[in-house]
Amino acid sequence: MDQASLRSARAGELRASDAGTDVKLAGWVATRRDHGGVVFIDLRDASGRIQAVINPEENPAVGTVADVLRDEYCIALSGLVRKRPEGTINPDLPTGEVEVAVTELRVLSPSEPLPFQIDDRADVDEGRRLEFRYLDLRRPRMAANLVARSRAIAAMRTAMVDQGFLEVETPTLVKSTPEGARDVLVPSRLRQGSFYALPQSPQLFKQLLMVGGVERYYQIARCYRDEDFRADRQIEFTQLDIEGAFWGREDVFAALEPAVAAVARALRGIEIPAPFPRLTWAESMARFGTDKPDLRFGMELVELSDVFAGSGFRAFADVLAAGGLVAGIDAGRRDLSRSALDALVERARDLGARGLVWIVVEDDGTLRSPIAKFLGDEEQAALVSAMQASPGDLLLIVGDRPKVTRLVLGALRLDLGRPEGHDELRFLWVTDFPVFAVGDDGSLSPEHHPFTAPYDITEMRDHPAEALSRAYDLVLNGVELGSGSERIHDPRVQKEVFDVLGISDREAESRFGWFMRALRYGTPPHAGFAVGVDRLVMILQNEPNIREVMPFPKTQSGYDPMTNSPSAVDELQLVELGIDLRPDVREALATDSPDG
Ligand code: ASP
Repeated sequence: MDQASLRSARAGELRASDAGTDVKLAGWVATRRDHGGVVFIDLRDASGRIQAVINPEENPAVGTVADVLRDEYCIALSGLVRKRPEGTINPDLPTGEVEVAVTELRVLSPSEPLPFQIDDRADVDEGRRLEFRYLDLRRPRMAANLVARSRAIAAMRTAMVDQGFLEVETPTLVKSTPEGARDVLVPSRLRQGSFYALPQSPQLFKQLLMVGGVERYYQIARCYRDEDFRADRQIEFTQLDIEGAFWGREDVFAALEPAVAAVARALRGIEIPAPFPRLTWAESMARFGTDKPDLRFGMELVELSDVFAGSGFRAFADVLAAGGLVAGIDAGRRDLSRSALDALVERARDLGARGLVWIVVEDDGTLRSPIAKFLGDEEQAALVSAMQASPGDLLLIVGDRPKVTRLVLGALRLDLGRPEGHDELRFLWVTDFPVFAVGDDGSLSPEHHPFTAPYDITEMRDHPAEALSRAYDLVLNGVELGSGSERIHDPRVQKEVFDVLGISDREAESRFGWFMRALRYGTPPHAGFAVGVDRLVMILQNEPNIREVMPFPKTQSGYDPMTNSPSAVDELQLVELGIDLRPDVREALATDSPDG
């Protein structure tokens, strides 16, 4: 067999209609079974798998090669496609009606014993999977995720190109763009002591493209943020990044909805109705306790301030008098034991609440709760009516600072209501975010990023904590898929935002002077958005975290166990960069073993 023609067919594509044809196949030994002289091999390639049958009595040379085969040997074979004998058809396999009777067989490349089974059912430690990612990628689930990712990106590109967008690459060695995270820095050799940053996103470059007359930009952009890792975060990730000139929010939504819908069509074969529903941030917080609500179920928050103002239950009355918020969720009928109820209270405390009140509406309509005795008949009736509770329902109520009440109830709502699996897709735009997030110490930071247009400059200056911005998020099933905004295109407004953020003129000049200057050359109004590709594919593939849809991700601690990265570098490299490690760092490096 010559290498160029190793294959005439793909394993997963053979069907009963191919019976009688001679084929050449190449792939991996997925399984090998010896049945009293006859050897059965499942041959796997990227298209699927097929059963190959070797009969050493009929063909001793092939039998000799078959003897040495082990799992994941890379092999090539020739043979005759034939229908499987009655009773041996495998209905679970697309190729299950046929098999290949092998006439020639050769090992292209043997495999060492495997660190784990190449099998979706095998429960393998993730560190191990990442260390041998190239083997992990042979598992059907991972192979399918790679295909899905590629299809998703292709669908996005097509949707953008169809709408007349221009794909423009922006640099990955940049001056740091503030997007709220820590930068990943790259030391410069030619300007020792100076650093590039890897982009947290192409934000300022895409805005400059608008100044540059590119009216519709998109990019499948790699972004880098040195944040604490979570299930849906990695130090590097991919966004579908877009920006449009002479655009407002509606243009962004209209451009992005088809791109996202195209991905859902490509991966799930379903049509997502457009336009997507919308909620303002304030509504979302009030009804779901979060800015990324999962709309696949109800259990909405109900504000109970009217019910409990002046309540016999002092804790709630006091909270309300102090400007707090009392609200609850109706968790439905659930018959929880006392210890399960105590666990809910514990959970609420862990989330930061001072307490959690549970109330069970008994079948006769009376209320069972540690606080029932403090509530008058009218108050009880008002509560049941406000919550539209039915007999048997469990009501969970929190009275605290508004922020805490919402956060805790929003989390309990998810704990108790989130449906298993991700089958339904509920997209949602959340609009009108606050301009600033206010820290517990009163400090302000941009809720989105500092280039987002506020609705009202005067209000932003006078009441920064309350001011709203022209920012919006796209949410899917409780996951934030991405964010965007209408931008500031007037340098004076941009300066005002820096002022409110406490960024001095000097600092603004040194960090953003280059960008502010560009805004002075006839900048069109513009707006844009970025969608997290990894998160979108994760949800559509029903995966629990984005690592499952990234070809070569890092562990939760940012480590790559396959390449052992990050790692120390040669002394000479450091010298060239003008970098001298601190003695304590040097010592720690010498004794440190990679953490995985
Ligand atoms: N650059 C922003 C982000 O990465 C998206 C945008 O505002 O367009 O979240």
